[in-house]
Amino acid sequence: MKIVDVKTYSVVYPVQDPFSNGMRWTRQRPFAIVEVITDNGISGWGEGTTVPARRAIDLNVIGRSPFEHEVIWEGLHSQGTDTGAISAIDIALWDIMGKALDQPICNLLGGAFRDRVQAYATGLFRRERKDPTAALVEEARSYADQGFKAMKMKVGFGPEYDIRNVAAVRRAIGDDILLAVDANCAYDRGSAIAVGQKLAENDLLWFEEPISSDDVEGYIEIRRALKVRISGAEQLRGHRAFRRMLQERALDIVQPDVSICGGFTEFRKIAAMASANHVRVIPHMFGTAIRLAATLHLLANLPDSPRANVPFPALLEYDMSENALRTELAKEPIRHTEGIVTVPQGPGLGIEINRDLLTKYG
Ligand SMILES: [Mg+2]
Repeated sequence: MKIVDVKTYSVVYPVQDPFSNGMRWTRQRPFAIVEVITDNGISGWGEGTTVPARRAIDLNVIGRSPFEHEVIWEGLHSQGTDTGAISAIDIALWDIMGKALDQPICNLLGGAFRDRVQAYATGLFRRERKDPTAALVEEARSYADQGFKAMKMKVGFGPEYDIRNVAAVRRAIGDDILLAVDANCAYDRGSAIAVGQKLAENDLLWFEEPISSDDVEGYIEIRRALKVRISGAEQLRGHRAFRRMLQERALDIVQPDVSICGGFTEFRKIAAMASANHVRVIPHMFGTAIRLAATLHLLANLPDSPRANVPFPALLEYDMSENALRTELAKEPIRHTEGIVTVPQGPGLGIEINRDLLTKYG
């Protein structure tokens, strides 16, 4: 089996109700998708942050077997292809390998420790609202009503906003629901520690990206200062970018994103490095149905750590914001039931792509 073509799709979903994290407003959601086509009729789908240049594809992908995923990865990387673009190709190669062997990707990774994953609702962004606190409380309650046992809200908007709204959300959902907060790198060290001390009074599951993602010493300092798990690294690319974060235990939880860090091939290396350094892995996910399916296969394959009687849950980041490319790109959409999501069982990623959507948002 040889790769004969790679089609690239740049799609944009226009957001109807814009939302903000601690850094920026989101008014549109751009995604980079590739379709890798082989000579025996099997094609695979991948999602990254960008698509590779045609020349890089011609030199490193066309004519190779999809089973040469490491060789293709290194070839693209050595010629300067962005890791966010390699991610797209790599995910598509694993989709092809799974389809060729008639196995879901989680089996290629070594098997599924679970076929259902607990999801946490990612939402609770800042929006233009008359009464933002009331809106957040209502949104948080709606997630609890849908059966979610865990959720994450955005912070990083200054101490006054963060402390008031996290306390209000915690009061609204009660003590039994796990609540994480995410500052998207919007604080400096001093502010992160000052705000974090107050936020930690709300029994938080973790405090995500309090500061710039490359400030290893800053993360170490914050982790020592706060009585809450610190998470991050969703934007890091390539396993070496994770090295110091993991070796120096700058994080309690590392959150690689399969479509940013370098696909399945690179995610596995990062997960192995995390395991060696006793750092928990909870993947980041904020993309289309392709990234969602890929993340589910990774979560199926992540062992409990430690393998306790009552283990720390393997958690899927379940994006609640509007995005047709997540909810409609797979012909059979991946949905949650009472906050639980089933790992796709079909070969490869286990989803069939609705091509009309690529035209509609292309
Ligand atoms: Mg985040």
